[in-house]
Amino acid sequence: MFTSIEGRSVVVTGASRGIGFGIASTFASAGAKVLISGRDADGVRSAVSRLADQGYEVFGRTVDVADRSSCDELAAYAVEVMGGIDILCANAGVFPSVRLSDMTPEQLEEVLGINLKGTVYAVQACLPHLQSCGHGRVIVTSSITGPITGFPGWSHYGASKAAQLGFIRTAAMELAPHKITINAVMPGNIVTEGLDGMGQDYLDQMAASVPLGSLGDVADIGHAALFFATDEAAYITGQTLVVDGGQVLPESVEALQEI
Ligand code: NAP
Repeated sequence: MFTSIEGRSVVVTGASRGIGFGIASTFASAGAKVLISGRDADGVRSAVSRLADQGYEVFGRTVDVADRSSCDELAAYAVEVMGGIDILCANAGVFPSVRLSDMTPEQLEEVLGINLKGTVYAVQACLPHLQSCGHGRVIVTSSITGPITGFPGWSHYGASKAAQLGFIRTAAMELAPHKITINAVMPGNIVTEGLDGMGQDYLDQMAASVPLGSLGDVADIGHAALFFATDEAAYITGQTLVVDGGQVLPESVEALQEI
């Protein structure tokens, strides 16, 4: 149905675990070459070997997306090992919790520096290569938190995730003449290693707030990203796709109980 993305070169930031690893795994299993990146070298190495063991063409490189020159080095390495960059999945992000009354300038800077500036830097670094391939794709991992919902302790995080959407709308216009599209996936609550140890009761409670009755899987986000990367999605840019099992739909607790 969809044109194969086999052989395309994909850079995924924040792919050593969680959603980024799910995105990397989805693209690798679709036949793409994938560069996995994150700050921790051991994390990157082990993610690469998990996918390489399945026979996929994967590479690894450390990066701190909050540092523009580190993003430039990542892009240069991608070109060295994969021959170019067709697709960037700007996924790296952090979500430390702190109430507004206690938030320090450093804590605000950390979250905006990685989630917002890191997205912009990764796009800027990959841009010349996305441009030269003639069909460049950028997929940003935003969130429902910020653009649609709120959660105490995450005002800085929510601001960074909403800001990513402001960024893609103008970036989409600037990139359009180069046939590069940029879109965002907005995950709801996705099961990742970060939830390990929270206990089954907590997971059950979270799942109960989702109309489809379960938390999301990293592959759910991977498939949404893969769709935006296809040739068939070439006419979609500056858009967002909520992948949350319907979590943002109930207008009240009662509405949820009526299901
Ligand atoms: P995660 O499991 O903590 O993974 C985050 C990834 O980003 C790791 O690979 C981490 O590796 C990397 N990373 C963090 N800071 C980085 C930096 N400065 N430079 C490069 N890599 C960095 O988190 P996740 O839940 O998968 O979240 C991934 C993305 O999805 C984030 O943008 C998050 O906002 C978004 N999201 C998640 C959910 C959810 O339910 N999980 C929901 C909505 C949105 P290192 O620590 O080694 O750098």
